[in-house]
Amino acid sequence: APPIGSKTGGGGAGALSMLVDVPKQVLVTGASGRTGFAVFKLLWENQKEFVAQALVRSEKGAKMLEKLGASVGDSESIKSSNAKLRALGMPAEDEDPDIFIGDILDGDSLAPALRNCDALVICTSGVPQLRKTELFKSILSKLIGRQRMPKFYYKEMPEQVDWEGCRNQIDAAKEAGVEHIVLVSSMGVTPAKNNDDNILNQIGDGNILVWKAKAEAYLAASGVDYTVIHPGGLLNKAGGEREIVLGVNDELLDGYEARGATRAIPRQDVAMLIVQALRHKELVTNKSFDCVSKAPGEGRTTVSFAPLFEALS
Ligand code: NAP
Repeated sequence: APPIGSKTGGGGAGALSMLVDVPKQVLVTGASGRTGFAVFKLLWENQKEFVAQALVRSEKGAKMLEKLGASVGDSESIKSSNAKLRALGMPAEDEDPDIFIGDILDGDSLAPALRNCDALVICTSGVPQLRKTELFKSILSKLIGRQRMPKFYYKEMPEQVDWEGCRNQIDAAKEAGVEHIVLVSSMGVTPAKNNDDNILNQIGDGNILVWKAKAEAYLAASGVDYTVIHPGGLLNKAGGEREIVLGVNDELLDGYEARGATRAIPRQDVAMLIVQALRHKELVTNKSFDCVSKAPGEGRTTVSFAPLFEALS
């Protein structure tokens, strides 16, 4: 378990948190994914403010979090020998897990991970896959001067992951008394952009934006305070080096240049936005916003996030 922040008793920590700064207990799902991991790492590194918990699908996924010092908790055999020691009146402490192994398609695996949590950050998503032969065909086509879009496929379709899996998480969070859900979705979900021509919907015949929009609507109707973040194209670049530009209703899809921005944003910067949204819950409650960034060196590096949130309509 984290050395500083302790499990807070979450959901019901309200009265106590008015007197002292009780760390927020936050579950990040998809924490072995690229954005999810970045969020978990930031929370883990800020243990005075947050008690970070992660949901991953496999032990392999847990490994990268364990490198930060997070733990899947004691094994069943240690737990049972600890229980025997306690029964004899001897001291034995179970180590609470920071990492939970579960599948969002199995609603039952979510409750233990959400127990006592104040907030949930949803970073799970269907992941488009590319067969090597497809890549090879596209490279060959390029060599002979022809454009060919490689065909992607999903192991699990967005209908399952981005809709049913998301709905399971929202239901489980509500049941657990979670007070804030932050959902990472995507730009392009507004009706004007979310159509058959949208390349994101065409990938792997997944209609990913359609299912993401459905999940957003379900979240908005859930009654739990929420924040939805719609990133532009995600980059595996350093965070904290760019000016972040926020917008609403997909206006940035056509209007990013007018704002001096690119259409993309580093995953690290999205992770920081999520952490700031958790910090400034009152400014982002029941809001959905889009995010892109300026190129490094353009504009002013964003260091203060509250004014960005306050400027959202
Ligand atoms: P990512 O690396 O693709 O991670 C997705 C995560 O979801 C993985 O950790 C995966 O687990 C997990 N997951 C999938 N199915 C699951 C299941 N059934 N149970 C539990 N976990 C499951 O994510 P990303 O590329 O950083 O994207 C983050 C978000 O931004 C996504 O919602 C994405 O759609 C959205 N977005 C992406 C772009 C872009 O340019 N790529 C643009 C805008 C928005 P495993 O590690 O076990 O597979």
